[in-house]
Amino acid sequence: MALRLDGKILAQEIEQRLHSDIQRGLSQVGRPPGLAVIRVGNDPASGVYVANKQKACNRVGLKSFGLHLPGNTSIDEVIKQIQEFNQNDLVDGILLQLPLPNGMDESLLLSVIDPLKDADGLHSLNLGKLIKGEKGARSCTPAGVMALLSRNKISLQGKRALVIGRSILVGKPMALMLQAANATVSVAHSHTQNLVDMTREAEVLVVAAGKPQMIGAEHISPGSVVVDVGIHRLPQKVNEGTKKKVILCGDVRFQEVEPKVSAITPVPGGVGPMTVAMLLVNTVFSWQKRCGLSLSLSDLLP
Ligand code: NAD
Repeated sequence: MALRLDGKILAQEIEQRLHSDIQRGLSQVGRPPGLAVIRVGNDPASGVYVANKQKACNRVGLKSFGLHLPGNTSIDEVIKQIQEFNQNDLVDGILLQLPLPNGMDESLLLSVIDPLKDADGLHSLNLGKLIKGEKGARSCTPAGVMALLSRNKISLQGKRALVIGRSILVGKPMALMLQAANATVSVAHSHTQNLVDMTREAEVLVVAAGKPQMIGAEHISPGSVVVDVGIHRLPQKVNEGTKKKVILCGDVRFQEVEPKVSAITPVPGGVGPMTVAMLLVNTVFSWQKRCGLSLSLSDLLP
């Protein structure tokens, strides 16, 4: 029976740890960590994600500064708002919720965020630190995956790992983190030929392609570890009187893959909660650093 890599439970554990670290630091510096969450436009999924992040801030004792701008806000205005948060001493982390409205330059806006306040770990300087193995804010989703593997004592040393997806948000930093943990890493992407041959070789398979249920039993090497980063809301046929109209699923066909593997993340309840937990970790790490407190979270920043 496969081990379920439960992100919900681990995220709760991390939140408890952050709560006590914050209480301890608060008595020394007199203010809690602050996280600014900037949302531009009305992407409906983003609304849910932002609300979840703000609730998580409240649970651990982080002060959140929410800013919701209309979709037609000029890029200069968004830059100005980011710069104000950069200057605000009560703000330790800044998160620009993605996706941005069509045509808004994501890369430019991410580069305006003070790298010391980069709650999502997506600033070029922090991605550079990841490449060099220097401590710094880490991309939340892959860092969450690493924490989940480590907490479940899944060794990566010398393992053949395959990451499906090469985005800056997930795939690329994921591959670097697995490599830093001494796995032998391959990366597949939309131009990869014969994907199934690669997946069958993998002892650790991380799927971040954004394609609902693309990976099935035929892709899996028996006994491997599978991490499903994908998250999709699929419309579902409903009986009359039933309210639920969507189901959540990942990039992996969980039911058929689970019996073949040694460990697997569920969707929901796997990688998703870890992404939020790591956002808090990055912000508390930055607060500790900016306030001269001792750094207690380095083990969570791979
Ligand atoms: P993206 O669209 O930016 O990147 C997808 C990557 O997958 C690309 O590099 C592409 O080349 C590759 N790809 C697409 N089809 C492929 C195929 N058939 N074979 C091999 N490679 C293929 O997406 P992203 O931002 O990296 O996110 C990936 C998925 O993870 C999405 O479903 C997203 O919703 C989810 N996600 C979840 C969390 C979470 O917290 N659970 C966080 C971030 C992203």
